[in-house]
Amino acid sequence: TKEVPASDEALAYRNEHLSSILSVSYKKPIYMERAAFQYMYDRYGNTYLDAYNNIPHVGHMHPKVVEAGQRQMAQLNTNTRYLYDELPKYAEKLLSYFPKKLNKVFFVNSGSAASDLAMRLATTHTQKEQLLVMEHGYHGNTQKGIDISHYKFGNSKGQGQRPHILKATIPDTYNGPYQNNDGTAGKQYAEDVIRMLQDQNADIAAFITEPVVGCGGQVPLAKDYLKTLYPYIRSQGGVCISDEVQTGFGRLGEVFWGYEAQEVTPDIVILGKPIANGHPMGAVVTTTEIAASFEQGVEFFSSFGGNPVSCAIAESVLEVMEEEQLQENARLTGLHYTQQLKELQQTYACIGDVRGSGLFLGAEIIDPSTGKADTEMASYIKNYLREKYILISTDGPYDNVIKSKPPLCFSKRDAEQTVETIAEALQKYYE
Ligand code: PMP
Repeated sequence: TKEVPASDEALAYRNEHLSSILSVSYKKPIYMERAAFQYMYDRYGNTYLDAYNNIPHVGHMHPKVVEAGQRQMAQLNTNTRYLYDELPKYAEKLLSYFPKKLNKVFFVNSGSAASDLAMRLATTHTQKEQLLVMEHGYHGNTQKGIDISHYKFGNSKGQGQRPHILKATIPDTYNGPYQNNDGTAGKQYAEDVIRMLQDQNADIAAFITEPVVGCGGQVPLAKDYLKTLYPYIRSQGGVCISDEVQTGFGRLGEVFWGYEAQEVTPDIVILGKPIANGHPMGAVVTTTEIAASFEQGVEFFSSFGGNPVSCAIAESVLEVMEEEQLQENARLTGLHYTQQLKELQQTYACIGDVRGSGLFLGAEIIDPSTGKADTEMASYIKNYLREKYILISTDGPYDNVIKSKPPLCFSKRDAEQTVETIAEALQKYYE
């Protein structure tokens, strides 16, 4: 029998051939072997409850999704220069989830390619260059993607802010200056941005943000923020872009797309991650007018974007969402999960804030004596849960926000198990 190599050997093997700029999770990385629904299994036969991975949206290796991919792979895989029905059929189905005005879709192979294309659409349509981006936002790994991602360009090792980029202060009602989340704070944050744009005589092509800033630490935009800011951006000739790579496809429970929670309709929407349950796919959804401007330029072609296999897989994801009512499960399980975390917050003051909705939650860990971010405590909780075979992560500018965004088949019992284990970690810590 073949000896099972240790995970540190596996990491050394990887680093022999790959750049170590690819980071791994945990002090002790996990050597994964297989997965099913909300479970992942390592090489040593351990079962992990996955409270973290949002890409396998309807569940790891969902049989219906696997079957759709296998069936289409055995039949036809080609590109958009030929006619085949999977492409318009999936496009029609996907667009049925959007308001009528958003009626054209471009397919690519990642969230990064989608945000890059969205920037091209916006600058082509408006014939402007300046871009308004969100503090701590992340949109992709291409050069344009990095330019608009404060999470990257603002990092101490980052390239800094380019001259055509303007940055909006994150409308965070927990850490920010305005905290009254009945619409007052959202309006104040938006008005500050408008003032900043006016002071700088800005001429914005596009404003891009996520509805809940994921890498910023699961920060939902303050209520009425986009409702106040969108009209201004449009009045000066810009377009509004919602990055739904993390928040889309029913994850937030109450709404199918994150922008709906802000009661606005964007001009461009960016999709990725969950769209095909882990199969590499991204998309940009926009209006007839914006697509028409783009059509005046050079041909757009993607070798893999919109291929029949990707379309078949993505279609099966929407079918599973509908059959298993996973948006409703995200809503109900999310409510229970949030309630459990808020109860724990009553006992442990180090849980400064519990936020998010559906199965897209964040718990901000602070030092109760100072109210400041407690990065070490968040890391301790993350690693404790790993030892108890539960996967979560930490993020945010101080890496002190515990993130949970599990596959949407996550159950109330799974939520309880996760919160019970966080409670155990805290109890042990203070013992
Ligand atoms: N937008 C958001 C909000 C993301 O979280 C990510 C990935 N973390 C991307 C875009 C880029 O997607 P990808 O990694 O598929 O290129």
